[in-house]
Amino acid sequence: MKLFREIIGHQENIQLLQNAISQNQVAHAYLFLGPKGVGKKTTALAFARALFCSCPIGGDACGRCRCCQQVSEGNHPDLYLISPTGSSIKIDQVREIQKKAIIKPYQGQRVTFLLEQVETMTSEAANCLLKLLEEPNQGVSFILLTTQPYALLPTVISRCQILTFRALSTVEITRGLKQTLNPGEKEIRLALALAGGSLGQALKITQDKQLQNIRDETLIMVCSLKKLTFNELCQKAEDLATSKEMLIVRLNIILLWYRDLLLWQLTGNQELLLNQDHLSLITEEALFYPFNRLLNIISKIEQTQRYLNTNVNVRLAVEVLLLNIQQGRYNC
Ligand SMILES: [Zn+2]
Repeated sequence: MKLFREIIGHQENIQLLQNAISQNQVAHAYLFLGPKGVGKKTTALAFARALFCSCPIGGDACGRCRCCQQVSEGNHPDLYLISPTGSSIKIDQVREIQKKAIIKPYQGQRVTFLLEQVETMTSEAANCLLKLLEEPNQGVSFILLTTQPYALLPTVISRCQILTFRALSTVEITRGLKQTLNPGEKEIRLALALAGGSLGQALKITQDKQLQNIRDETLIMVCSLKKLTFNELCQKAEDLATSKEMLIVRLNIILLWYRDLLLWQLTGNQELLLNQDHLSLITEEALFYPFNRLLNIISKIEQTQRYLNTNVNVRLAVEVLLLNIQQGRYNC
């Protein structure tokens, strides 16, 4: 578990939280919003550690005292982690919070509730939480994490101090990878390309030996779309939409594939390609796509990626995308 000073990126947010601790002006509720895997939970746990630390240094935890250890071992009695049971955070879970929020802290001065994926709260749970936020108890802090702020009650949002977490830059992700796994340049390039600004995802990709296989399999699929009938294509879309997490990875792979085709058409420079090991396939496929259709396909993939963060019908969005890709290619 990280201390504030060990976290990569998000320096403005961290500074703000450290100042709040040093100046004893910790807000009653924080809402951390941003894409998955960029460091919201890591920062929230570092914040909890700093809040509970018995000898914090400049708003950051010492990392050594008993309280710090309890937080990192997940057994601090005044820190509660709440995540969805099944697909949502339910009313019973918020009622539990309600009960615990009125009990005095076991240790020290503060009770902290860290709620993950608050966008999954049922409306009953959200209304119950709203009451807690509206009538704050002394010494109770809430840290709410979400990737989908538009799915929250505006009244919940308005009760929180909002901290936005952006995707990390390639420099920050590279630093994170080198500090932990220290992979080779080739692995770093692939991880950067597929991680979508998430260090968590980049670490996962680097460790995942299956990824090369997933990439190859996805490229074979995308190159074979031209042969599929409409029904087969719909079936393919349904298969792809089964796992949203894997779909995110696959869409990135597909996006980078078409970027490679575009780059090859524009420059003919092998060095610029991400999928260099598939050069012969790139040179062959690039012949079948007019330049403006490649641009159109790329923008459709990006649009589908944006759709994944909303409540659209994923299968349908993928189906439309695959049709666009299929029709973008000359039939020869
Ligand atoms: Zn400490």
